[in-house]
Amino acid sequence: MTTQSVDPRTGLSFGPIFPDTSREQSASFITQAVDAYLVWMRTTTQDRARVLEALADALDSHVEELVTLADSETALGIPRLTGEVGRMTFQFRAFALALKNGISANVVDAAVDAPLPQGHPQFLKTYRGIGVVAIYGASNFPFAFSVFGGDTASALAAGCAVVVKAHPAHPQTSQRVFEIAQDALAKAGAPLGLVGLGHGFEFGATLIKDPRISAAAFTGSRTGGRALFDLAVSRPNPIPFYGELGSVNPVVVTSSALADSEKFVGAYLDSLFMGGGQFCTNPSVLFVPADSDFTSQLADQIARRSATPFLSEATKKLHDANREVLLIALKGEVLAGHAAPEAGFFSTPEVVIVSAKDVSGKDALSIECFGPTGVVITYSDASEVIEILSDLEGALVGSLFANVTDSDVPVLLDALSSKVGRVAWNAWPTGVSVTAGQNHGGPYPASTSPLHTSVGLDAIQRFLRPVTYQGLPSELAGLI
Ligand code: NAP
Repeated sequence: MTTQSVDPRTGLSFGPIFPDTSREQSASFITQAVDAYLVWMRTTTQDRARVLEALADALDSHVEELVTLADSETALGIPRLTGEVGRMTFQFRAFALALKNGISANVVDAAVDAPLPQGHPQFLKTYRGIGVVAIYGASNFPFAFSVFGGDTASALAAGCAVVVKAHPAHPQTSQRVFEIAQDALAKAGAPLGLVGLGHGFEFGATLIKDPRISAAAFTGSRTGGRALFDLAVSRPNPIPFYGELGSVNPVVVTSSALADSEKFVGAYLDSLFMGGGQFCTNPSVLFVPADSDFTSQLADQIARRSATPFLSEATKKLHDANREVLLIALKGEVLAGHAAPEAGFFSTPEVVIVSAKDVSGKDALSIECFGPTGVVITYSDASEVIEILSDLEGALVGSLFANVTDSDVPVLLDALSSKVGRVAWNAWPTGVSVTAGQNHGGPYPASTSPLHTSVGLDAIQRFLRPVTYQGLPSELAGLI
């Protein structure tokens, strides 16, 4: 099998053909990565920070070339992709700074000379990079969640080596980012083979089954993530699998947030259709009061929205199949924008409107329509919202648009926080900043590991394995 780029705007293939990475090549990448890991894990955090900064500088110096290439493969547009390169390199700089500030510093627990339970010997808790990490990039973030995205940045910062499976929707971008980064790593003195890159579906499965892989990070669909998770945990030596899967994100709006419904509807559609609706944080299900003029505003404004291209034919096919199931299950009113052109991989933007009383097929609300399709549920009482929320699956993010004095705020906040990893107050769910306070995860299927985040500085914790030394003499402290 091979991979070749396809222009989503025309449906035509172009550029070099990438053969699938063979089993022998895969084994060789991992051998090199294991050797590199043994050197890299012993480097100081200052040295690691220096290499991460060099990587960021190198990638930033190729921004125009990278963005043009990625746009031809993903149709995500120059402004969005330019911002995403900035986000990719920001992540490397953020982890460099965090290393300098001691994010993986040792913890010393001095001995206490007293009878149990207060007394104990001295403990020195250290953190080692877990080993070689397998990383699977997503189609919709060719930079920030791809070859040198947040997973790679956090794994390298932790002292791990990495082998990445390129996403077939942007093979040339993956390869070019890899080449630029390899050059920067070599110049900065990083060990050879610290990061490997392969292509092809089989390579992805071969990689995760290799006993020398110690952890995996994945961003993508529920089907793909679950298949790889099952492989990871059914190995003779199971490994942690940090999968960020698809998400159906709930947004609850109370009457007090709709004072200017024209502006509000415009902002909703911007968030829903951002990136062609191909964000894992799009506002998938919006709850609005039935007695508002939200739906009439929506009918007026969506009619003016254009069709946008999908990232790939596969993304369009999956979206169209899920949309079909959703429409049949909800039996709601469909409001649509401009019709999709025949060429390329486009879809008409749509919103399905249904009353909370008629939401019987609640399973349908757990179907992620990864593309320009949204659901609006009109409600008469907050209890209807809470009942439907209680049936939703875990999600990455939920929003509440309300006034602090609204009496329903406490119960709605509680209902949302029981389902999602991040609750946004009077803010749209799209847009995930990379900070210490960020949490990008949530109950399954949002994440296979709800205790961790894949975005923000805490993402490093996924790849740091704690080791405690008990009673270690100070003369030996230099050995660790
Ligand atoms: P995808 O189709 O699951 O692909 C992700 C990667 O996994 C690809 O490299 C794919 O390889 C591989 N893969 C898929 N199924 C596999 C299997 N059964 N065995 C081995 N490898 C497999 O997902 P995508 O198209 O990149 O992204 C779309 C989805 O990602 C959406 O559902 C979206 O919500 C989610 N997403 C989540 C986040 C988040 O932060 N949680 C962010 C962005 C996107 P092949 O393509 O070669 O098969």
